Amino acid sequence: MSQKKAVTMTPKLEDKLTEGENNGRVIVTKNYINGKWVESSGKDTVNIINPAYNKVIAKCPLGTKKDVDDAVKAAKEAFKTWRETPVIDRVQILFKLKTLLEDNFEEIAKICTQENGKILAEARGDVRRGIQMVETACGMPTLLMGKGLEDIASGIDCIAMRRPLGVFACITPFNFPPMVPFWFWPFAVACGNTFILKPSERVPLSQVKILELVEKAGMPKGVLNMVHGSKEIVNALCTHKDIKGISFVGSTPVAKHVYKTATETGKRVQALGGAKNFMVVLPDAVMDQAIRTIFESCTGCAGQRCLAGSVVLGVGKAYTELKEGIVKKAKEATIGDGLDPKSNIGPVISKEAKERIISLIQSAEDEGAKILVDGRKGVDNLPGYFLKPTVISGVTKDMKVAKEEIFGPVICLSEVDNLNTAIEWLNSTSYGNTTSLFTTSGAAARKFCYEADPSMIGINIGVPAPMSFFSFGGSKESFFGDVKVHGQACIDFFTDTKVAIQRWYKESSIW
Ligand code: NAD
Repeated sequence: MSQKKAVTMTPKLEDKLTEGENNGRVIVTKNYINGKWVESSGKDTVNIINPAYNKVIAKCPLGTKKDVDDAVKAAKEAFKTWRETPVIDRVQILFKLKTLLEDNFEEIAKICTQENGKILAEARGDVRRGIQMVETACGMPTLLMGKGLEDIASGIDCIAMRRPLGVFACITPFNFPPMVPFWFWPFAVACGNTFILKPSERVPLSQVKILELVEKAGMPKGVLNMVHGSKEIVNALCTHKDIKGISFVGSTPVAKHVYKTATETGKRVQALGGAKNFMVVLPDAVMDQAIRTIFESCTGCAGQRCLAGSVVLGVGKAYTELKEGIVKKAKEATIGDGLDPKSNIGPVISKEAKERIISLIQSAEDEGAKILVDGRKGVDNLPGYFLKPTVISGVTKDMKVAKEEIFGPVICLSEVDNLNTAIEWLNSTSYGNTTSLFTTSGAAARKFCYEADPSMIGINIGVPAPMSFFSFGGSKESFFGDVKVHGQACIDFFTDTKVAIQRWYKESSIW
């Protein structure tokens, strides 16, 4: 695929990009500030690479503090009128956006596949989940309602109202380019706040398309802004005195940094970090279904999901059938360009990611595990960052692959004696995002839900992702903050509760 062709597949997108170097063949994304597409103040750029072909398809500027200052100024000004706009009017723009997103569904999904690598079916899921956030935020007139009670004391009434706070911002990762920003801004904006979005500099193109639709839906200037960049932009957002809260999604070290930096300047913060997800299979599981679901969980999106299964524990007699089934699936998988309908696994995001995953597989071998299917083999002839599924057996608690987030299509297998041992192992890890149990026993399922540490639990579900109307987020090293994202919880994050206690005397000489 030529660089020009990759860009012209989304012709309208080009209006929102500025021509860069390379004889105008490589384009540079623009910021969206105060209702206008403006060039970044940053001189440096990073390449946006289609990972299936190792081809530069555009460039993302590394913006500076000036861009953040401009965006905050616009958002602060817009807040004055936006917060007074009735919520029923605010959500009309989201209703329009929902229609525009449906009309442009396929185009956004294709951009996602080109910038991220995931197969088109997964990219469609990514967009669909994003649209569901918009749909849920459309219910804000009801979600935002406060509480009231007459006669909390004789003749005294109390009402509690939810009020927007001002400017919020989010910083998002590479692995769900269309969806993750939707976890935040539709809710924040429907609550009456204004917003700044900083997408991952590796995959900003689907957000350029989405903001073009936001503009078309009639979002007033300054209500939603987008700045491109990396570290410098993130630090400027985290320390800006006029930003009230930060939502972050990404790796644990950066989540910790964002949490620390932004809370130090008095902001509300919700910072979602990395994961190490365990899946446990009991002998009474519906084995063929469990194997299919586990394999998809571990290898879907090339293993680059924060909810991806990583370590799979077979309890007693479940182990052998599980191992054989997973090995068979791994051998059958077809890797390739996500736009090719024959591919069922796309590439990983970058050369560095591929090298890191390869070195983790090697560490397992060095530490005594057995590589049953070696995904490092047979990928040298492909242009992009491909890895076939890898299956490792004999993984033990102390091995690197059992402790570190791999974020690649690698399945670590181990046999354990009983459910208690499995729960003890998964609870001993530092992360707490998600875990799944495969069983037909209600009692085992209840015990698992009750005793396992992670905050999102799947029973016969491989990717236990709460829908937009439930709240999402892990625990331990997977989540830093107090209030989870989307669903009802996010209303708490994006509003302050104001309580008015009123006494009105019964008798008045004027009546
Ligand atoms: P990342 O931490 O590298 O980047 C995330 C964001 O932080 C990006 O916008 C990036 O520009 C910024 N950033 C990167 N380095 C920075 C630094 N040193 N200082 C300040 N900002 C910095 O994460 P990623 O590689 O894009 O995404 C993958 C990670 O995200 C995985 O660990 C995955 O588990 C995690 N993730 C978690 C969830 C969740 O719900 N818990 C969801 C999706 C992804």
